[in-house]
Amino acid sequence: MTTEIVIVGGGVGGTVTANRLQKELHREVSSGDVRIRLVSETPYHVYKPTFFYVPWGEAEPEDASRPLADLVDRRIDLVYDRVTHIDTSGKSLDLAENGSIPYDYLVVATGAAPDIEGTPGFGADGNGHHIYDAEAAMELRRELSAFDSGRLVFSVVEMPHVCPAVPIEFTMLADARFRQLGTRDDIDITYTYPISQLHSVDAAAEWVEPRFDDRGIETYTEFAFDTVDSDAEVIHAADGTELEYDLLVGVPGFEPSPLIAESGLGESWMEVDKHTLESDHADGVFGVGDVTNIPTSKAGSVAHYAAGTVVDRVAALARGHEPRTTFDGDAICFLEAGTDSGSHMSFTYDSEPVIRNETEFVHWAKLAYNETYWLTARGLA
Ligand SMILES: Cc1cc2nc3c(=O)[nH]c(=O)nc-3n(C[C@H](O)[C@H](O)[C@H](O)COP(=O)(O)OP(=O)(O)OC[C@H]3O[C@@H](n4cnc5c(N)ncnc54)[C@H](O)[C@@H]3O)c2cc1C
Repeated sequence: MTTEIVIVGGGVGGTVTANRLQKELHREVSSGDVRIRLVSETPYHVYKPTFFYVPWGEAEPEDASRPLADLVDRRIDLVYDRVTHIDTSGKSLDLAENGSIPYDYLVVATGAAPDIEGTPGFGADGNGHHIYDAEAAMELRRELSAFDSGRLVFSVVEMPHVCPAVPIEFTMLADARFRQLGTRDDIDITYTYPISQLHSVDAAAEWVEPRFDDRGIETYTEFAFDTVDSDAEVIHAADGTELEYDLLVGVPGFEPSPLIAESGLGESWMEVDKHTLESDHADGVFGVGDVTNIPTSKAGSVAHYAAGTVVDRVAALARGHEPRTTFDGDAICFLEAGTDSGSHMSFTYDSEPVIRNETEFVHWAKLAYNETYWLTARGLA
């Protein structure tokens, strides 16, 4: 009997998991004892951090995307379809167009999607901008190209947000870019955050405060969006504060695919054991990446490290062994401080985040990582 391993989602977590599982189980796959299938609703793998550079004309949307077939080991069966339901008692998946497929072990890596319509000021009736997909990043590029005076408000509207660095990095990059363009004196930058400090990670909040001060960036904490009058360009906060803007950019709310709740894998985010990454609700089912409820950042680095744990555990189970590898919540995030220096922070479930010295080297290291990412996706780094 062939052991069926199915991975859902061809993003960071799913692609790294699939390639590393193939590497680990290559003998079993060659002999037909194991089959690995990756189900992706799109034939492309998207590396979202590239969108950060698109509004500034430093990257194009196509730079963020590669055909999955070029990244995934050819011995893995690629299925391009959307999973519409997971039957965890019958151990099968329903696909939108190709019937259903069985699994013995399932890895869910369906990510987190921005809830644009549910975020005040950002839906069809709003004029808020974001960088969470290629089209939105290009729209923001068009806005920025004509923006040479007024107030740019950068707001984190809801939490948790995907990538902890984005709010800090975007705001500092905007400051640096406007200085280079000679427009900074005519542009006010305001940053709002929904809790009582400038970032949810204490160390990042402490790191950013003096840097925003030095750059003349105005800040509001505990700023909870209530409504946005997009015609008048005013944000109304829950405490009655009114904030006018000429350009609103921000981090919308995020949500998992409805597949999770509908399949009984969690009320909202997929509920897993934070160390084994196994579903709290179904046997043989694992979660990797942004879709899970693990108590750490939603970041590509977390998806990458978590994939390593899931690969070891699934490979052990497929061989009839007791899985031993556990996940400690490893995360690493670059923090760009403008255009020529950067820092990075790392943390685990049990260790407080540490922010390293800000250097030019780290800035170049981040750019270099973005280039070599495609090796990571292939499971080679
Ligand atoms: C602008 C930006 C900058 C970022 N910068 C960084 C950074 O510097 N460092 C960092 O670590 N992280 C960063 N991130 C976050 C990082 O991109 C995510 O954390 C990472 O992509 C999560 O990987 P994932 O596999 O969980 O989800 P994703 O990469 O989002 O992949 C999910 C995949 O599942 C597919 N899918 C969803 N539902 C289904 C279904 N029902 N059936 C089939 N397929 C489905 C989707 O199409 C998608 O391909 C950034 C994100 C953004 C947007």
